[in-house]
Amino acid sequence: MTNKNTYKSTCCYCGVGCGTIVTVQDSGSVTVAGDPEHPVNRGMLCSKGMNLQYTVNDTSDRLLTPQMRLNRNMPLQDVSWDTALERTAKIFKTFIEKYGPDSVGFYVSGQCLTEEYYLWNKLMKGFIGSNNIDTNSRLCMSSAVVGYKMSLGEDVVPVCYDDIELSDVILVEGGNPAWCHPIIWRRVEAHKERNPDVKIIVVDPRKTQTVNSCDLHLDIFPGTDVYLNYALGRILIEKNAIDPEFIANHTDGFEIYKEKVFSWTLDEYADTCKIEVEKIELAAEWIAKSKGFLSMWTMGLNQSVIGVSKNLSLINLSLITGKIGKPGNGPFSLTGQPNAMGGREVGGLSNMLASHRSLENPVHRAEMKTFWGGGEISDRPGLTATEMFKALESGSLKAIWIICTNPAVSLPDLNMVEEGLKKAKLVVVQDISSKSDTVKFADIVLPAAAWAEKEGTMTNAERRISLLEKAIPAPGQCLPDVEIICKFADKMGFGDSFNYASTQDIYAEYATTTEGTNIDVTGVSYKSLKEKGTIQWPATKKSENKGTARIFEDNAFFTPNKKAQIKVLNEKNDSESTSEDFPLVLLTGRIRDQWHTMTKTSKVNKLNQHIGKPFVDMHLQDAANRNLKAGDIVKIKNKRGEVQVTLNISEDIKPGTCFMAMHWGKILNSTFGRANNLTNNLIDPISKEPDFKYAAVEVSRFYKK
Ligand code: SF4
Repeated sequence: MTNKNTYKSTCCYCGVGCGTIVTVQDSGSVTVAGDPEHPVNRGMLCSKGMNLQYTVNDTSDRLLTPQMRLNRNMPLQDVSWDTALERTAKIFKTFIEKYGPDSVGFYVSGQCLTEEYYLWNKLMKGFIGSNNIDTNSRLCMSSAVVGYKMSLGEDVVPVCYDDIELSDVILVEGGNPAWCHPIIWRRVEAHKERNPDVKIIVVDPRKTQTVNSCDLHLDIFPGTDVYLNYALGRILIEKNAIDPEFIANHTDGFEIYKEKVFSWTLDEYADTCKIEVEKIELAAEWIAKSKGFLSMWTMGLNQSVIGVSKNLSLINLSLITGKIGKPGNGPFSLTGQPNAMGGREVGGLSNMLASHRSLENPVHRAEMKTFWGGGEISDRPGLTATEMFKALESGSLKAIWIICTNPAVSLPDLNMVEEGLKKAKLVVVQDISSKSDTVKFADIVLPAAAWAEKEGTMTNAERRISLLEKAIPAPGQCLPDVEIICKFADKMGFGDSFNYASTQDIYAEYATTTEGTNIDVTGVSYKSLKEKGTIQWPATKKSENKGTARIFEDNAFFTPNKKAQIKVLNEKNDSESTSEDFPLVLLTGRIRDQWHTMTKTSKVNKLNQHIGKPFVDMHLQDAANRNLKAGDIVKIKNKRGEVQVTLNISEDIKPGTCFMAMHWGKILNSTFGRANNLTNNLIDPISKEPDFKYAAVEVSRFYKK
């Protein structure tokens, strides 16, 4: 606490991780301001951050008491915490006894705090005996996790935000940070304003707000990013703009890479990507001349059936030029959610264990078993996000506990997801908001404390750990998530291993698991975070709380031979194909002032004023071919479903493609505007991240303006 009514926290929206100051008024409501001392945002906040106070001041939609129903024909009724958790534990135990531990699962969120994430993992993997815990972060960054592990030997973002101001070429591929990571983009723009020679290149099928402030827009056809990156690699090699010494001493795989990128001509790459050759050559020329080359990416690369390959192909540009481990240089995956990084640290994916340990590794499993003092850790990989809902549909997964996420809007192929939720034998939903569409499917509803009503830590996209102080009490019977987990663990008979005096003890336990690993945070505690502020991992006991801004400055990568791996995988996009019936490619994404499924942001009138209703963007040529006019209500259809939506006509989108925002769920129980009715459940075979950016559809008039 900084003074009596003022608390330090971190914005609960995106992975930028802006510092905030929460001030509690005499009335009990809060005001929120950017923290001027915070190294990320230096007092700035974006439109979402500036309206954070509404997430807790307006309690009109809050879930306030535990609720339960004995069958789906009954309404939910208020019950005590004991009743709700005893029933959940009884059903979990019954299923585990009858069908085995893999019959139950937890589906968590990149908005959970690190301590919560850690405990959910400990309970499922260490005590229940299954690895069926996955997260909605699977939907946004698991391809980057695998990309980093395969190339750098560990899931580490090697750069930091301060590298922005030290770079002279910034390549943004598959991202719209001007809307989705606004404070970082403000830093990029300010850097360019001060240094007009800095070059910004944006790769995107759409002319987004980010494109508006770039020097070169590579308006790529969806799904062809790997080819573009190969083309850039080919030119860099041809122009001798690579670093042979770095390649020889610190990498493996260059010759295979070279053979691959030279297997096509530049014209073939340009034709496939639908980008002029001259534009690709200019981008390569700028990268070649740069002293500081920073690549940034988000969902456009990650949310793909070849997401890992896309990640590797971009990281390879940093490796062949040796532009990594030096100030202003490196590959920078921007995380979407506020604590996607923290979830990765504690092993919050169904194939990981705490401190980036691998589930496949028997030594790692044995280490965590000894540490937790629970049962044998299963070597069976757990179900990933989309696999869980398929397993509910098929009946192999009986019970699911959904925490802080709204899969009935955010997962792909929602008609299948709804079927899964209907067929589930038990759906528990733990959330803050009754607005979550997933609550409608719940048998048991558990009201959780919101941001500012609980304490804990988060880690942002540059590995910066921050403490979120509790500022106000939670309303009604809402409980912090860590208390809910510990109470449930007790009902399951594991209480002795979930008996913590405070949240900081949970963090301290997690920190101990990191000792000696590449993500060591044994030098971090609540005390150090309060006294010295945020810190970037690794931060060992010996580091005197200095943390680590940049990784690989010694060129020693985290692979067994310390060399980075230049890898090539499949470059052909294996998404579903367009056809005569469904000739257009639907892309999905976000808009500036809404967050995920809008349970928080739609409460704020100011945010709804930006874009208040669902829409589809379509190129004017495609609209003219279909005799459609701006403002028409159109029907977008494919083999999975149909939605109706208002048509925007634009030249800011590639012909042959259209775009919908993913935020809207069912409006008045209709099929109006729910983009994920149309997205497909194909996944990258390695990262298991869904293919949100490529669905074959057709658009026709539903209602004439
Ligand atoms: Fe919050 Fe992200 Fe906006 Fe910062 S940029 S205020 S973290 S939403």
